[in-house]
Amino acid sequence: MKDRLQGKAAVITGGGRGIGRALALGLASEGADIAVLDMDGAGAKAAAAEAGDMGRIAIGLKTDVTDPTQIPSAFKEAVHRLGKVDILVNNTGIARYAPFLEYSYEDWKKSLDTNLGSYFLCAQQAARNMVERKRGKIVNISSIVAQVAMPGSVAYAATKGGILSFTRVLALELAPYGICVNAIGPGPILTDMAQKTLGEEDRRAREAMIPMGRYGVTADLIGAAVFLSSSESDYITGQTLFVDGGYLASGVSKKF
Ligand code: NDP
Repeated sequence: MKDRLQGKAAVITGGGRGIGRALALGLASEGADIAVLDMDGAGAKAAAAEAGDMGRIAIGLKTDVTDPTQIPSAFKEAVHRLGKVDILVNNTGIARYAPFLEYSYEDWKKSLDTNLGSYFLCAQQAARNMVERKRGKIVNISSIVAQVAMPGSVAYAATKGGILSFTRVLALELAPYGICVNAIGPGPILTDMAQKTLGEEDRRAREAMIPMGRYGVTADLIGAAVFLSSSESDYITGQTLFVDGGYLASGVSKKF
């Protein structure tokens, strides 16, 4: 299906590479104009250029989404160039792994600022624009670690679980304004983040736990993001769609 997001304007955070980049281009391929916010300004601009080649209005803005002083100006620029914000994909995330007993408070705070604080700041800016039209879609990227424990991921998992509660509260508060707020929970996806933080042995061990027998790729998430950004999901809010190759369904064993 094509053009499901024709005439819509979307902001994607952390869209300079990885999952965010794939989602930004996935929304653009369905007709959305996009603003890509990323600390990596070159990555953001490269993603925007690719969407521009599809005929979209697209801008890449070098933005640190943990900095409360940068977010309002980034959204102001997005609204100036795209006219409005119909869709926000809160995607930025960092993963800092260490055993709990050695976990630094600095990494804890950095994880909360990036994975939760930025979602709050960006959702507030986006929603303030959306309420004017009584319509909008906010999609928050969580993770399967919001549901199942992964040793060494104390801050990451806390933020990803927090995103689900955050999503539900926003869904209730923004429903009267016609704004849907949902989350996507990816399973293991092969991106730079995963390649950097996982050794080969861990990667294979995790792959063996996925019923579909393979790691996810960024393209596997596009369908869910487009659906939750489009009018097809207008009566869905406060939900989490896990895109994990069956990972969360396989509690005990994946074979009989
Ligand atoms: P990547 O690390 O590949 O990409 C993250 C992007 O976010 C990078 O471009 C990075 O910029 C940018 N970024 C980081 N911090 C900031 C900041 N403060 N301000 C602006 N931009 C920032 O991550 P993934 O694509 O793998 O992950 C995307 C999301 O998906 C995250 O929320 C992650 O938790 C989630 N997820 C990922 C899974 C996976 O297996 N990969 C599984 C489940 C969930 P820079 O290059 O400058 O660091």
